[in-house]
Amino acid sequence: MHNILLVEDEQKVAAFICKGLKEQGYRVNVANDGAAALRVFHTATFDLLVLDVMLPDMNGIDLCQKIRSKNSAVPILMLTALDEVQNKVAGLKAGADDYLVKPFHFTELLARLEALLRRQAVVQLNENNTLTFEDLKLDLWTSIVERAGKEINLTAKEFTLLELFMRHPNKVLSREFIAERVWNIDFDTGTNFIDVYVNYLRNKIEKGFKSKLIHTVIGMGYVLKSGSGK
Ligand code: CA
Repeated sequence: MHNILLVEDEQKVAAFICKGLKEQGYRVNVANDGAAALRVFHTATFDLLVLDVMLPDMNGIDLCQKIRSKNSAVPILMLTALDEVQNKVAGLKAGADDYLVKPFHFTELLARLEALLRRQAVVQLNENNTLTFEDLKLDLWTSIVERAGKEINLTAKEFTLLELFMRHPNKVLSREFIAERVWNIDFDTGTNFIDVYVNYLRNKIEKGFKSKLIHTVIGMGYVLKSGSGK
């Protein structure tokens, strides 16, 4: 579910947008002016902002700029009642991703929001295609694993196993959890193949390096965490 912050001082318009978005399954917070928007923005995480340009206490364009200076990634859609090229340009220059001229059809607003959220999903993947833990780096696109700048060759299963650890750092992963996620099977306590694979992986990412990364938690499983040296 996506969280949307709607900044709009006109009660009727705010209620109309809010109702429509909620019906589409979005969670919506409404702020009636710029100051309220900034307060709410700092206390919660939003996936998208809808900003009206004409606000009682500040210009939506200035608000956009203020938010951009704190958060470069969140998509921002500006609403403007003034169909003026100047306004659009200023909004986009201030960091808005798109704008919509009032009055608009709700379906158009929805289409713009969905497009921005889809684009955002791609951007996040672009920026986060690398998992890192201490001096260990795993690139999900190129499948290159490096520790302290040295490339490490892993088999496909070792790679998936390491990815699982790196997606859950400092959390104890049970053998059942690992079996399910890496091998897609139920764990059979009669076998020790997970321990065998964890040891293969340890040999490759720890041997010759300064510290241990994968630690055994007796009776529970394994955890990726900072080592105090070997
Ligand atoms: Ca307004």
